[in-house]
Amino acid sequence: MNFEEYKNLWVFIETFQGKPKDVGLELLNEGRRLADLTQERLCAVIIGSDVDESVAKVTAYGVDDVYVVKGKEYENYCSDSYGDAMAKLVRKFKPATILIGATHNGRDLGSKVAVTLQTGLTADCTNLDVDQETENVIWERPAFGGNLYAQILCADSRPQMGTVRAGVFKKGEPDDSRTANVIEVDIHTPQELITTKLREFIKGEEPADLKPAEANIVVAGGRGVGSKENFSIIQKLADELDGAAVGASRAAVDAGWVPHFRQVGQTGTTVTPELYIACGISGAIQHQVGMKDSATIVAINKDPDAPIFEIADYGIVGDLFKVVPELTKAIKEL
Ligand code: FAD
Repeated sequence: MNFEEYKNLWVFIETFQGKPKDVGLELLNEGRRLADLTQERLCAVIIGSDVDESVAKVTAYGVDDVYVVKGKEYENYCSDSYGDAMAKLVRKFKPATILIGATHNGRDLGSKVAVTLQTGLTADCTNLDVDQETENVIWERPAFGGNLYAQILCADSRPQMGTVRAGVFKKGEPDDSRTANVIEVDIHTPQELITTKLREFIKGEEPADLKPAEANIVVAGGRGVGSKENFSIIQKLADELDGAAVGASRAAVDAGWVPHFRQVGQTGTTVTPELYIACGISGAIQHQVGMKDSATIVAINKDPDAPIFEIADYGIVGDLFKVVPELTKAIKEL
């Protein structure tokens, strides 16, 4: 393989109903930093049927080139058709690096493309850097149950690919005066690869509520909340706080009290809000890796020795069934 032929850093922009998901915009910001280190171009890739709004948005966030594959057949994400389009784009334009948001679809697409192209993929990264000598990306991800971070290189093949968790990087500042080269590419995906059978599933996976990774404030509940019905007190506190989303520990998700998209942590989402309020969450390392970089952490727990207090800025030792309604009432009265 001739590495010299592979140039530039691509960010796959996942869209939903014509709009780019935040994780893609976050990756553009980090992608720019990495592309500057290797003096490469930063390129966005958009596949879809209704792409204009997404093209305008990524341009405002700052890219050099936007590769667009447009067609009715790409209206909904489908592993085979998107995988086919992406693999063909890569074969034609030969990017050195591809970043993809670690959403359900992104994880699926990343593995599909990496297998098709016989290259390496590091899944679920939480940090990225570049080895300036070799220009290999240093992909960092939690390993061994979150007890250490592994740094992984894709030294023998190109493109080097990784999926990156939402919320790990911050979006840049958009500027509508920015411009980019828009390159529309005709891809002929065979009809048999185009299927809409995942449509309902994908729509169903999109929660109407604000997702923890997109919120300024996360109010999260754990096993201490005790039941699905009791989560209403967590929701009520979130409702009083502008821009707040409900989050949860894995224990609460596994118990079926809240859907998985709310799970924060190693096997859920990573969040970095301005304020994270942990209610009845012990603070296991696998939970902490998903929220420890929040600007301010408040913990409410009846056990003074709970590990969550070690990383909390403010701790309230007490029964959440007393403290949370009191807090909600006090905020309401502000
Ligand atoms: P617990 O550890 O049981 O803690 C409940 C807390 O509630 C206790 O501290 C208790 O004192 C407190 N409490 C109880 N009642 C009250 C009350 N009335 N008022 C106030 N406080 C009260 N976990 C995640 O969260 N996210 C992940 O993504 C994740 N991924 C994992 C991946 C792997 C490979 C593994 C092995 C584990 C993972 N876990 C994850 C699970 C993790 O190890 C913990 O089991 C989990 O986080 C515990 O959830 P919890 O804090 O809600 O429950």
